[in-house]
Amino acid sequence: VANILIVEDEAHIAAGLRFNLELEGHQVEVAVDGLVARRLLIEESRDYDLVILDLMLPHVSGFELCRAIRRKSETLPILMLTAKRDDPDKVYGLRLGADDYVTKPFNLEELLARIDAILRRKGWTAPAPVEHDVLVYGNVRIDFDTFEAKVDGSEVKLTPIEFGLMRVFRDNEGLVLSRDQLLEAVWGWQNPASTRTVDNFILRLRRSLEPVPSAPRHILSVRGAGYKFVR
Ligand code: CA
Repeated sequence: VANILIVEDEAHIAAGLRFNLELEGHQVEVAVDGLVARRLLIEESRDYDLVILDLMLPHVSGFELCRAIRRKSETLPILMLTAKRDDPDKVYGLRLGADDYVTKPFNLEELLARIDAILRRKGWTAPAPVEHDVLVYGNVRIDFDTFEAKVDGSEVKLTPIEFGLMRVFRDNEGLVLSRDQLLEAVWGWQNPASTRTVDNFILRLRRSLEPVPSAPRHILSVRGAGYKFVR
């Protein structure tokens, strides 16, 4: 979550930006003119992670503010909004220490992407968390990436073979798997294990994961055929 100050006298632009940035989880303040912005930034030394700075402002211009901010902080990111399309302004703004600029009228998606990029560069936006390979059903949660299994939120210990079995069940949900199919998928042909081994592991899995191991609801026996998993 970043703390963002929008300095913008056009109320509808400020409101639209604020709405979208808040949707992304940021904290947003709006300064409606250069004087308010100067008070917040310079006199009160409020702490922000990013300033979105309109160039054309009543009372104190964006350029002046940019200079004042840079005198105070070398590192506070500044994104300039400029209605002017001519390059000298942009170059001037960047020279004064703006990190980036966007020309109005701007494309909202592009502006949000640029804001994201600035915050990421400054280390404010963490990279998106990696999605784990997780199976959730009933009161069971199994994370195949961290090899963690929980029942009702409490950790239960499963062996790698048991995790492997549950993964095969998950990948073939609702399908009957023969003991030989399970052997091949989990143990592989190299490891000589008997179909009896499969039965033992199924019993252990039920003891760990089923609410009533003797009357399983998820890891089911299919007479004469094998086993199947249902949520
Ligand atoms: Ca303006």
